Amino acid sequence: MKHVKNLIVGCGLSAAVLAERIASELKEEVFIIDKRDHVGGNIYDYKDRNGITVHRYGPHVFHTSDSKVWDYLSQFTKWHYFMYQVKAMIDGKIVNIPFNLNTIQEVFPKALANRLEEKLLEQFDFNTKVPILELRKIKDKELEFLANYIYDKTFLGYTTKQWGVRPEDIDESVTNRVPIYISRDNRYFQDKYQAIPLCGYTEMVRKILDNPLITIQLNTDFDSIKNDITYERLFYTGPIDEYFGYKFGELSYRSLRFEFVEYATEYYQLGPQINYSENYDFTRVVEYKYYLDEISSKTIISYEYPQEFERGKNERYYPVPKDINHEIYKKYNEEANKLSNVYFLGRLGDYKYYNMDQIVARALVLFEELKK
Ligand code: FAD
Ligand code: UDP
Repeated sequence: MKHVKNLIVGCGLSAAVLAERIASELKEEVFIIDKRDHVGGNIYDYKDRNGITVHRYGPHVFHTSDSKVWDYLSQFTKWHYFMYQVKAMIDGKIVNIPFNLNTIQEVFPKALANRLEEKLLEQFDFNTKVPILELRKIKDKELEFLANYIYDKTFLGYTTKQWGVRPEDIDESVTNRVPIYISRDNRYFQDKYQAIPLCGYTEMVRKILDNPLITIQLNTDFDSIKNDITYERLFYTGPIDEYFGYKFGELSYRSLRFEFVEYATEYYQLGPQINYSENYDFTRVVEYKYYLDEISSKTIISYEYPQEFERGKNERYYPVPKDINHEIYKKYNEEANKLSNVYFLGRLGDYKYYNMDQIVARALVLFEELKK
């Protein structure tokens, strides 16, 4: 029987940050396992044969307004400063998303666009954000037309593909991530810090994990070792329902199928990400060389096809924020709270639609609690 002081299941970003804190500050040994053959979890990236850094599990742009998180990660990476802009295809035209005052000018004839802008500015302050489901509640003929247009052309198709349900049938927090922006700011995020690790996410994670007290064993599922190992503390970043043998039912997830295609052309599209709400079965097309401004005569892109998560068939990518899942999660969380030396964290352990910065913050807070 192997005995370890700290066992971490999963070697994604949450695990890396926690392991680093425990090893650096408490000077304790940490043993990490991951069932995949690489570190980094879903932020894993690699250089392809043309020298382009590809995000294996879809486009990742780091953004935060939390200077603690920014300063923490900045110890392990230099940054390529990058203000993210996303485009969407509407009626054959590439326009800005989130839908903002510029998008209005891009899609409507000038007179109508000006009228809509004026109407919006009568209702909302400049530089405010309005969730689509809120905009649809406004009782004004022209704004109703605008809200329905944005809903039909940018949210309905995309959300139905991504989540398998219409926008109003999933928590508002999902579509609130991309609100209508009463502004001329074309960025996808307004956070103070936005960047891509200069040498990639995997390299940043390797640096975080680079401590003689941290040992990593890949290609190892928790299930395959749990009867042969004891620990003082277990940190579980895998799915919480799996840990408890699904005894309160299975938490649902959305998955994705990525189709990577290399083209013998310098650039394939106008920017890193184009969303396709109304057309095709994929949601977005991502061109990777844009993220670090990499030069090559070839290019590599991915088409993202959302799918239902099915155990054993594909990967869990998105927790599904819906009442039924919140109820099931609550039961698992109550069960987790009864355990004195087992902690759950991460997108799968907490069953939360976390961005990377929230993951880092969560691991840092958990570490502070451990120290008490
Ligand atoms: P994960 O990265 O999921 O790591 C969990 C690890 O645990 C995995 O490696 C898994 O193999 C392992 N594991 C699970 N079960 C077991 C087991 N039983 N035994 C052993 N190992 C196990 N965030 C942003 O901030 N900006 C973005 O642009 C962004 N884009 C995203 C795009 C996509 C398509 C997706 C899916 C996510 C995106 N995110 C983005 C979110 C980001 O990926 C997550 O916040 C972060 O990767 C979560 O880290 P984690 O450690 O919780 O989990
Ligand atoms: N969304 C949409 N159309 C878009 C962009 C986003 O309908 O063009 C909705 C969709 O439901 C999506 C959610 O907003 O899942 C959150 O979008 P985000 O870009 O944050 O998704 P992520 O990058 O996390 O996949």
